Amino acid sequence: MERFTIDSDAIAASRSRAASAAEAGRGAELFSRVEVGDGLDDEGIATLLLADDVATERLLALARRTPDPPHLETFSPLYLSNECDAECAMCGMRRGNRHLVRETADEKTIDDQLAILHRRGLRGVALVTGEYHFGTKRRAMLDLARRALETALEIGFRHVLLNVGSLDVGEHEEMLENVPRRPDGRLARHVTTSTFQETYHEDRYRRFIGANPVNPRSDFERRLQNFDRATDAGMTSANPGVLLGLNPDVAFELLALLAHVRHLQRRGNVVYVSLPRLRKATGTEHRGGVSDDALYRVAALLGIGVPDARIVISTRETPEVQRRLLPVIHVLTPGSPGVAPYTETGARFDLRASQFKVLDERPIEEILGELLAEGARIECYEPRAVEP
Ligand code: SF4
Repeated sequence: MERFTIDSDAIAASRSRAASAAEAGRGAELFSRVEVGDGLDDEGIATLLLADDVATERLLALARRTPDPPHLETFSPLYLSNECDAECAMCGMRRGNRHLVRETADEKTIDDQLAILHRRGLRGVALVTGEYHFGTKRRAMLDLARRALETALEIGFRHVLLNVGSLDVGEHEEMLENVPRRPDGRLARHVTTSTFQETYHEDRYRRFIGANPVNPRSDFERRLQNFDRATDAGMTSANPGVLLGLNPDVAFELLALLAHVRHLQRRGNVVYVSLPRLRKATGTEHRGGVSDDALYRVAALLGIGVPDARIVISTRETPEVQRRLLPVIHVLTPGSPGVAPYTETGARFDLRASQFKVLDERPIEEILGELLAEGARIECYEPRAVEP
């Protein structure tokens, strides 16, 4: 079966040519070509990222989607546990972090949380755990996630994302064993594999995610090919992502991400692309993410380079940043990174027990309601009718 691999030298060479072209002032000419409908190759897209003479506003305007007001999709995260056996240096959930209050939800709590989110109108949910060594705990966590997936589909969630680490083909198959299939063997329900590479740069990956083979996430290539194994197991929807800020060379990440998205689309996947920025986490040295401007440029250029990919932004970002990005993104995900945090009207935001800091802690209804009031259409959201 086809597997995605990264040719780091080729990407670095392409990045270097893009930098030279940007420095030589070719940005404006490339921009004009896109403006008149000519396609650009990925190197041209990276040149636009680096071109000082092409203003971010112009890129955002060019990437702007119709209609206006926007047609978006939504889902909320539901952390089943904040335990993890991996050691990602930037993450509050890493195994060695003694400052994090550890929590794992039981089956009843997860059922209750799904019911609450459903009552609050959500029809999309991302189930999140850590990543575990092979053995009893891993099996227990995957069972918990599988059961949550089946419950979510049963009670009416239309889109479920699985952010549960890299799985083997057999584990993917077990996870999906009770999900209905089409005659061709692909899933008949919308279930998405969500495994962010965080960085496509192997040295950076080793530095932040780790290189010790005992660490269940240290295998760069195994992580990279999780979507391929999921596709082999019948999945048709993939959610890669880059944690902006791990690698200061954003152009390298953009080139690798574009290659990954195209590969996943060629394999028949709907692709959701996440662009989280590095955020503060308990017990973790806080290194800055990229600037607002860099985030805007990457989002706009993804929209231009791979228009069929669905760009996801979360409420890690402030309302102001969400607003700026709204015309070019496809998915806005409100919610809390705490374990089983939801109440009927709000959520618990406790950094001591959360993976990272979220900057917009407003209730889901307020965040999405504001957009609905402006005429936006939001898939996977059916707000409760207000009692007279
Ligand atoms: S990023 Fe994911 S795999 Fe790494 S420590 Fe955090 S939860 Fe675990």
